[in-house]
Amino acid sequence: MKFNTKTIHGGQKHDPAYGAVMPPIYQTSTYAQSTPGGHKGFEYSRTHNPTRQALENALASIENGTHGLAFGSGLAAIDAVMKLLKPGDEVISTNDLYGGSYRLFTKIFQDFGIKFHFVGMQDVSKIEDYINENTKLVWVETPTNPMMNIIDIKGVSEIAKKHKLLLAVDNTFATPYLQQPLDLGADIVMHSATKYLGGHSDVVMGALVVKDEELADRLYFVQNASGAVCGPQDSFLVLRGIKTLHVRMQRHCENGKKVAEFLESHPKVEKVYWPGFEFHPNHEVAKSQMSDFGGMISFTTKGNNYEEAIKTVENLKVFTLAESLGGVESLAGHPASMTHASIPKEEREKTGVVDSLIRLSVGIEDADDLIEDLNQALG
Ligand code: PLP
Repeated sequence: MKFNTKTIHGGQKHDPAYGAVMPPIYQTSTYAQSTPGGHKGFEYSRTHNPTRQALENALASIENGTHGLAFGSGLAAIDAVMKLLKPGDEVISTNDLYGGSYRLFTKIFQDFGIKFHFVGMQDVSKIEDYINENTKLVWVETPTNPMMNIIDIKGVSEIAKKHKLLLAVDNTFATPYLQQPLDLGADIVMHSATKYLGGHSDVVMGALVVKDEELADRLYFVQNASGAVCGPQDSFLVLRGIKTLHVRMQRHCENGKKVAEFLESHPKVEKVYWPGFEFHPNHEVAKSQMSDFGGMISFTTKGNNYEEAIKTVENLKVFTLAESLGGVESLAGHPASMTHASIPKEEREKTGVVDSLIRLSVGIEDADDLIEDLNQALG
C-alpha cells in the first residue's frame, strides 16, 4: 500500500459491531467479563482500548513499523522510552532539540542516574567520541527544533548498530510523509502527535512506533505500568487527523517553500533556516532522506534585537503567536522566551537560539496572505 492510501486505510478495519467506517469512541474504562478472564481482548482501558488500538495500528502502518503506542503527550512518549534505561546508563542526544525534551532529560532523568551527552550531530562521526560501555541510547531530532538542522539518520543508525545502541528518532517535524526513520535504521520513532499527526491544534498526544516485537513488549509494559495513555476521544481525533496528513503536508511544503523564499529576499531578515535551500549546510542529507522540506522555518532579523523580534511576532495578524506547530493554521513563536526558555541562555545561544530568532509553523492558508502578513509585521 502506498503512503497516501495508508493514511486512510493502514491498519484499519470497519468496526465489527455495526460496520462503522470510523472506529467509534469507546468511552469506557472497563469491559464486561463472562467469567474471570473471559473477555473479548479488552479488560481495562489503561491497558487497551479499541479506539486507541485503531489509532495505534494506523501509527504503525504510516511509519512502516509493526507496533504503535499512543500516549497522553509527546513528552509522555519520550518518558516511556527513557524508562527502558537504568541508573548508570548513558544517552547521546542531539544538542539542538525541543526544550521540553531537554528539560525532561536534565531535570528528571539525570536525577535518576542517567547521563546525557548533547552533541552536534551534523557530523555523525562526533557521536563515537561519546560512546562507552554505559551508552545505551542515541536520541535524534531531525529536523531539529528550532534550528532546522538535519541529522543523517542512516549514518547515525550505522554507528548505533555497530555499538549495539538503540536509536530513537523524534519525527515530529518531518512526519512519515517526509521521512520514515525505521526504514533508515532507527529502532524507535517518536511523535508529538499534538502537531502534524493531529494537525488541527485540538489535542495533546504522543506516539511511539517500533518494528521489533521484543522492544514493543518492553514499551507496552512501560505504557501500561506507568499509565500515561491517551483517552478514546483524543485517539479518535488523531486518527481522523492522520487521514488527511498527506494532503495537509503537501500544502505545508508548498507554502513553506514560498514563505522561506520570501523571507530570504527580505532586507530586514538576517538568516533563514529551512532545509530546502541549497545553501542549507545539510541540504544534501535532507534531499536524500526527506521527500520534501516541510513547513517549519526559523529566521533571525538583522541586529539580533530582542525587542524587535517581540514586536514582529506581536504585529502578526494571520499567523497566531502561540506555542506548538503542525496545525492547519500558521503559528509563530519566539523560541528564546517560549518553547526554549527552559534551556539556559548560554546553552541555547551555542546552538543558535538567539534573541531575534523567530520560528514559523507555516499552515495551509493561502500563501499570499501569509507573505503579506509577514511583510507588514516585519515592516
Ligand atoms: N518533540 C518535539 C519536536 C516537539 O516540538 C514537542 C512539543 O512541542 C515535543 C516533542 C513534546 O510533545 P508534547 O507537547 O505533545 O508533549
